[in-house]
Amino acid sequence: MARPILLAVDDDISVLEAVVQDLRREYGQIYRVMRAGSGQAALDTLAQLKTRQEPVALLLSDQRMPGMTGVEFLERAIEFYPEARRVLLTAYADTEVAIRAINTARIHYYLTKPWDPPEEKLYPVLSDLLEDWKAGYRPPFEGLRVIGHRWSLRDHKVRNFLSQNHVPYRWLDVAGNEEAVKILAEARLDADKLPVVLFADGAALVDPDLDELAARVGLRMKAEQEFYDMVVVGAGPAGLAAAVYGASEGLHTLVIEPDAPGGQAGSSSRIENYLGFPSGVPGADLGRRAHTQATRFGAEFLTQRATGLRIDGQYRFVQLGDGREVSSHVVMLAPGVQYRKLEIPGAERLAGRGIYYGAALVEAVACKDEEVFVVGGANSAGQAALHFAKFACKVTMVVRGDGLSATMSKYLIDEIEKTSNIVVEPHTQVVEAVGEERLEKLKMRGPQGEYTVPASSFFVFIGAAPGTGWLPDSILRDEKGFLLAGPDLRIDGKLPESWREAREPFLLESSVPGVFVAGDVRHGSVKRVASAVGEGSIAVQFVHQYLAGF
Ligand SMILES: Cc1cc2nc3c(=O)[nH]c(=O)nc-3n(C[C@H](O)[C@H](O)[C@H](O)COP(=O)(O)OP(=O)(O)OC[C@H]3O[C@@H](n4cnc5c(N)ncnc54)[C@H](O)[C@@H]3O)c2cc1C
Repeated sequence: MARPILLAVDDDISVLEAVVQDLRREYGQIYRVMRAGSGQAALDTLAQLKTRQEPVALLLSDQRMPGMTGVEFLERAIEFYPEARRVLLTAYADTEVAIRAINTARIHYYLTKPWDPPEEKLYPVLSDLLEDWKAGYRPPFEGLRVIGHRWSLRDHKVRNFLSQNHVPYRWLDVAGNEEAVKILAEARLDADKLPVVLFADGAALVDPDLDELAARVGLRMKAEQEFYDMVVVGAGPAGLAAAVYGASEGLHTLVIEPDAPGGQAGSSSRIENYLGFPSGVPGADLGRRAHTQATRFGAEFLTQRATGLRIDGQYRFVQLGDGREVSSHVVMLAPGVQYRKLEIPGAERLAGRGIYYGAALVEAVACKDEEVFVVGGANSAGQAALHFAKFACKVTMVVRGDGLSATMSKYLIDEIEKTSNIVVEPHTQVVEAVGEERLEKLKMRGPQGEYTVPASSFFVFIGAAPGTGWLPDSILRDEKGFLLAGPDLRIDGKLPESWREAREPFLLESSVPGVFVAGDVRHGSVKRVASAVGEGSIAVQFVHQYLAGF
C-alpha cells in the first residue's frame, strides 16, 4: 500500500525546505512528504493524488502566499480530501485570521512561526493530528466483511458494534449486490441466515451474538484478576476520567463497558464546547484518546455489561452479562443515560430497521442522497442533523415547540440555519411509523393537520433515562431512576436509615458506602462532557479517602 502523504505548502522556498526537512526527519519512515510552492500548485497535486487514489493524511500550509492564501487553499482542499488534517502556519500577526479559519476552513490547528524546536512546537501537535487521522482512515480493504440486509436489526447491531469498537470492516448489502451473493455461494453460506461476518482467514460467523463476535475480534471478555481496588461501570467521559485518575494514582482499576469507550459523547460527530479543543473534537476521538490514556496508566477494560451489584461486608461484587463476577473494594457507577424510546405505533417493530436511537453514525453513509428525519430539539439532535446533512439530500428536523431556540445552543442553531439541506418543521409531531419489513412512511401531525411522508431513516433524540434498573434497591435513586449521592441522600434533613456509617457520605458517594456515582446518571448532574469528566476525576479523591479508612 502507498504511504499516506503529508503535503507542505509555502511560496517561500527556504521555509518550505525547512518544513519538509523537519517532517521527513520525524515522519519519513511512515509517510511520504510532498511539497508545493503555491496554493494552486498544491490543489493540482491533490487532484492528481485523488485520481490515483493515494491517501493524504495532512496538509500544512503557510497563510501568506500570493494568489491564494493558506486559508483559501485549506478550504478548497476539503473538496479533495475532507478527512486530511488541515494545519495553518501563521505569523504571530495572523493569529486572528487563523482563529476565524477554524470555522470557515474547518482547520484543525494553527501553528505560529517559528516552530523551533520542532520536538516541542511541531511534532506533538502533528503526531496527535496524525493519530486522529489514522483512527478514521480505512486502508484498501484486507479484513472483515459483513454481509447482511440494510433493514435488519441484527445487521445494524453487528455493524454498530464493529464501528463503535473501531474494528475495520466492509459492509455488503445483500440486496441487489452480486458480489455479496457470489461470496455467500463460494463460502457455501445460506443467504437466508444473515448477517454473516467473514474473516480474512476464511472463517465465518453466522448471525453471531455480540459476545461471540467480541471474543473473535480480540476484545477482552474476561478479567485478568478476580479482585480490583476499583471497578468502574461505564466508559463514557465520567468512567474514563475515573479510570485515568484512578489508575494514574495507583488504584488497580477495571472498567466494564459493553460498547466502545466514549459513551454518549462517542456518538457525537463533533463536540464543540469541550475545553482545549478550539476546533471541536469528534466524540469517538475523545473516547479513543481517553481509553489509550487509561490503558497506559494500567487500567484494564472488559467488553461486558454490568447486570447486578452485590455487597458483602467491605467487598463489592459486580455481576457481568456472561454470568461471571468481579470483586473490588470500590465501585464507581458511571452508566450514563440511554435514549428514551418513542411511544408511537410501529416504533418498536421498526427499531433498527429505519428507526434509530441516538446518532447511530454508522447509518450515515447508508443514507447517502436520501431524506433523513430527526426528532428532538436539543443539542444532540442538532449535531446529528448537521452530520447527516453531509450525506443525505435533505434532513427534516421535527420539533414539537416553536423552533430550536429554547433548547439548543446558539452555535448549533446558527450552523443549522446556514445549512441549506436542513429544514425545521416546528409544531409538528410524528404520530406513527409505517412499514412492514422496514420503515416506509411517517405519519405526522403539524399545523396543517395530519399527513404522511415517505421515509426510510428516522433518528430519535427525545430525552434520555438512566440505565439503573439492574442495581439493588439499597442504591437509592430519585423518582426518575437517577442515583442519589452525597448531600442529596439527606431527605428532610435525614440520611437514609440504611446508612450505618458514623461519617457523612462523601460528596459523590451513593447510599452504599464505597459505591460512588459520577456523570449523567447522578441526580442533579449537568449533562455535559466536561462535568462528567469533572465528576469522574473528583470522585477518585473520595475513593482514596474511603480506602484510607480501611
Ligand atoms: C449526540 C450527542 C451529542 C452531545 N454533544 C455534547 C456536546 O457537544 N457537549 C457536551 O458537553 N455534551 C454533549 N453531549 C452530552 C454528553 O455526551 C454527556 O453528558 C456525557 O457523555 C455523559 O457522560 P457519562 O460518562 O456520564 O455517561 P455516558 O456518556 O452516557 O456513558 C455511559 C457509558 O456507560 C455504559 N453503560 C451503561 N450501562 C452499563 C452497564 N450496565 N454496564 C456497563 N456499562 C454500561 C454505556 O454503554 C456508556 O458507554 C452530547 C450527547 C449526545 C448523545
